[in-house]
Amino acid sequence: MTDQNERIFKKRRAMLVEELASKGIRDSRVLQAFDVVPRHRFIDSALSLRAYEDSALPIEMGQTISQPFTVARQTELLEVKEGHKILEIGTGSGYQAAILCEMKATVYSIERHPKLYERSKSILQQLGYRLMQKSGDGTLGWRAYAPYDGIVVTAGAPVVPDNLKQQLAIGGHLVVPVGDEEKQLMVRICRISEDEFKEETFSSFKFVPLIGKQGWQQ
Ligand code: SAM
Repeated sequence: MTDQNERIFKKRRAMLVEELASKGIRDSRVLQAFDVVPRHRFIDSALSLRAYEDSALPIEMGQTISQPFTVARQTELLEVKEGHKILEIGTGSGYQAAILCEMKATVYSIERHPKLYERSKSILQQLGYRLMQKSGDGTLGWRAYAPYDGIVVTAGAPVVPDNLKQQLAIGGHLVVPVGDEEKQLMVRICRISEDEFKEETFSSFKFVPLIGKQGWQQ
């Protein structure tokens, strides 16, 4: 990649940040992360000219890198603070994980497709992001490192996976799109105490399905 290309991408990132702000993203730490993370590195190079459009794009295994607005909205709803322990379900390209790392969270991420797990691991490493990753069924969570200050599910679930609720720290947020295969509402669950949870619902989105024990059947 030439210096000139890098300058073009930097300019496009700045324009994307303005677009996200105009669409209602307010958290300045989220916007700062979008200004830095090179989205073009997480997709096929044939699509790199479209990297800073506000749209979802295809990645391998019939999956997608989510629309930037969706990533920004989910991240904002998580209320990420420096040092927070965040679990992501659905690493996909690795882009959302990079945004969380850029916000100085301690990140854990699970991807069900081994090929996407390997690919995202290699890109995140090349870019210098340090996080814990594994391949497996994220609907079960990652008990060894629980509890988490935030859990973000980047695929559409039929119901809120109870395993994930149980792995939230008190005060932590679980952000998960819930609905049918066509459309999901963004749900945020806050753990108030050991057995009390508060649920809020936000606008609708369209995600690829969350497939697993507490998701859709394959
Ligand atoms: N966060 C991703 C990014 O930044 O590119 C978005 C990925 S895509 C919208 C959703 C991902 O969830 C896909 O890669 C899919 O394979 C993965 N997925 C679906 N069900 C899963 C499960 N039970 N556990 C882990 N990953 C899952």
